Amino acid sequence: MDHFRLNNGELHCEDVALSEIAAAVGTPVYVYSTATMCRHAAALRTALAPLDDPLIAYAVKANPNSAVIATLARSGLGADVVSGGEYQRARAAGVPGAKIVFSGVGKTEEEMRLALDGGIYQFNLESVEEAELLSAVAAAMGRSAPIGFRVNPDVAGGGHAKITTGAAENKFGIAIGDAVAAYGRIAALPGLAVQGVAVHIGSQLTSLEPLERAFNRVGDLIGELRAAGHDIRVADLGGGLGVPYDPDQPPPPTPAEYGAMVCRIAGDWGTRLVFEPGRLIVGNAGVLLSRAIRVKPGATDPFVIVDAAMNDLMRPALYDAWHRIEAVRPTGAQRTANVVGPVCETGDTFATARRMDQVVAGDLVVFRTAGAYAAAMSSTYNSRPLTPEVLVDGSRWAVVRPRVGVDALIAGDRVPDWIGGCAGEPSS
Ligand SMILES: *Cc1c(COP(=O)(O)O)cnc(C)c1O
Repeated sequence: MDHFRLNNGELHCEDVALSEIAAAVGTPVYVYSTATMCRHAAALRTALAPLDDPLIAYAVKANPNSAVIATLARSGLGADVVSGGEYQRARAAGVPGAKIVFSGVGKTEEEMRLALDGGIYQFNLESVEEAELLSAVAAAMGRSAPIGFRVNPDVAGGGHAKITTGAAENKFGIAIGDAVAAYGRIAALPGLAVQGVAVHIGSQLTSLEPLERAFNRVGDLIGELRAAGHDIRVADLGGGLGVPYDPDQPPPPTPAEYGAMVCRIAGDWGTRLVFEPGRLIVGNAGVLLSRAIRVKPGATDPFVIVDAAMNDLMRPALYDAWHRIEAVRPTGAQRTANVVGPVCETGDTFATARRMDQVVAGDLVVFRTAGAYAAAMSSTYNSRPLTPEVLVDGSRWAVVRPRVGVDALIAGDRVPDWIGGCAGEPSS
């Protein structure tokens, strides 16, 4: 469910015509719907309501814009962060330290200190070595760091190999079979307060089955850890629930179905449950608004060249991701086309042989479901300006990240005054 709708023949975000945003801000531009984010957060909260005080910690990496985090913080969500930068963003946007969990594969001393200073609900640790470092850092600060290990349950989940994290060969967490020994090794270390266990098996999951299998393994582990004398009071079940990208594919499980499964499997664990949804909250709350530059003939189908490119929306190039592409003012005419950006890479292809709205040069198009892992991964490759972001709430809208123009990119470079060119080459 989202709030991008046709109104008088033109696509709107809530009450704002996308053409109005394009005219004022230019294209390409990301546009986010407050109502959609809030609706998804509320749906998950309702689904988890039977649980005792669950912590829903929004996975900041999905969309780290401060206005997005602030919107979700105001509706009571915490944050799951994977870097010191994300920790700082979450705190600056109003998330209290007591609602932040710190995940991430290679936490540094500086990041540990930052979170201990600012407040943290739990560090999800990835190895005994990381636990030993955190112990030293926390002890030196006279602090006690609340921790759990992220365990790898050897359950592969995820819509693509590059977003699968719970298979045995993935880099994340400690093997679930080694967990009891790992907790034993760190239990007596100073500066650590063992309180939990964490799992996250992958992203864009379209079935509950791998999640249920992983959660059952975590439930068994909690029993073993308690039997070994560890006081496990928190279970972080991660994120990963998929969202619909393609209306012709079967829809992923709903938050209600997910919540019912969680309550059935984990409701009686006697732990506080933590959730780390990212895509579920923001995926369908954003579009990338772009303009067709021109249409040129192709060997089979024409190429629609748009002013957005792989640097703005990397998911198709990185994960073979499929985004629905629609005209902002559809005429009803359809045709089969390839949709590409202007970047000098063949990977800069958004759609191949796609049956879609017919567009001509100058028409506005949107890439749907571009609220998650989209602007977050954008770059300035090919010296393209960094794409701006707009947040809509009802009939109000604001630029929440301005475009970073080419002048600013050039001004960011430094040319040392000793540059002499290449020896032996003519200087002119
Ligand atoms: C990326 C990530 C998430 C969020 O995943 P989604 O698929 O966006 O819900 C949650 N937890 C951890 C540890 C992550 O790395």
